[in-house]
Amino acid sequence: MMEITKTIKCKLIGLTKRKLELLNREYDNFQHYLKTGEDKGVYSATKQQGKRTYRKINPNKEYPLVIRKDLMDIRKTDNKLAKYWARIPIHGVRGGIKVALAHQPLNFEEWEVCGSKLVRKNGGFYLHVTAKRKVELRKEYSSIIAIDVGARWVGVSVAPHRSKPKFYGKKVREVRGKYFWLRRKFGREKKLRAIKKIGNKEKRIVNNELHKIAKDIVNEAEKHNAIIAIGNLNGVRNNKGKKANRKVNSMPFYRLKEYIKYKAFERGIAVVEVPEFNTSKQCSRCGSMRAERPSQGVFICKDCGYQINADVNGAKNILKRAVGYMLTAGASVTQPEGGSRYILHTPQPPLTGLHGGSPLLQ
Ligand SMILES: [Zn+2]
Repeated sequence: MMEITKTIKCKLIGLTKRKLELLNREYDNFQHYLKTGEDKGVYSATKQQGKRTYRKINPNKEYPLVIRKDLMDIRKTDNKLAKYWARIPIHGVRGGIKVALAHQPLNFEEWEVCGSKLVRKNGGFYLHVTAKRKVELRKEYSSIIAIDVGARWVGVSVAPHRSKPKFYGKKVREVRGKYFWLRRKFGREKKLRAIKKIGNKEKRIVNNELHKIAKDIVNEAEKHNAIIAIGNLNGVRNNKGKKANRKVNSMPFYRLKEYIKYKAFERGIAVVEVPEFNTSKQCSRCGSMRAERPSQGVFICKDCGYQINADVNGAKNILKRAVGYMLTAGASVTQPEGGSRYILHTPQPPLTGLHGGSPLLQ
């Protein structure tokens, strides 16, 4: 059993003039209290939490209101405006004020709501709710989705429950290509601010795409009750292969992997990491290391004659190794008449790089 923590940012919507005034008053008084120690009227628990949370006060900064866990009250409503309402404690207002939370995808009933912060930004208010939940990983799976980094794709996956491989990240490639040229152009023109600006934009677009791909993969895993296998490049960097270095440095794949791990974990789906060394050189059918690469995209085995898309070959190797890995790690793969059954006997599959306490926010 593991725990997962998440912070959800909810905008407060439909605030009446009175509520907005009360929130601003509480917020201003809180700032005043933190900076001078003088209390012009702040809810007492908020005051205490503030003191506990903010040790060093910068007079030029605004500090979010800290709402103690036991005072958090988020409820579902039938109201048309919002699915959930929260109660904000306000000094001098009995029971605080009720505020509507803008649409967000989390079902608060399934989570334990912890403390929160109320943030004032551009004249509006946002409640940053911290929530946690226990997650139990599934132990039995009916299939495997194996993912490898591709030469021209962010990732390529194969799975026994479908005959066709899937290629991910067409848009990522396009975006990166486009911005590569733009950066070069602005570089020649010495437009440094423009470079920084497009850099941020590129990152946003690429990240968004990676989240979509990860979601897609985890949805498929859930639908087919599949465990997810991803190549792990740790330790590959120092080997002389040029390709290995390119792979290690493939940041989008690395991030994609992190997103997949996080999203899979949230739904109780295990992710196993298998050594990725030589996945591009080995024949996924016979295991031979003697291959011909007439072009970057084509893999031909010199021993068994297997001809296949080189990226798909890599993903198939990951699949094979994942099955082998699960066998050695104490998991079992049985093949009853109905097909394969993958059972993880290890209490915890290797979930490197995953921290329950640091949510990856979308
Ligand atoms: Zn072969």
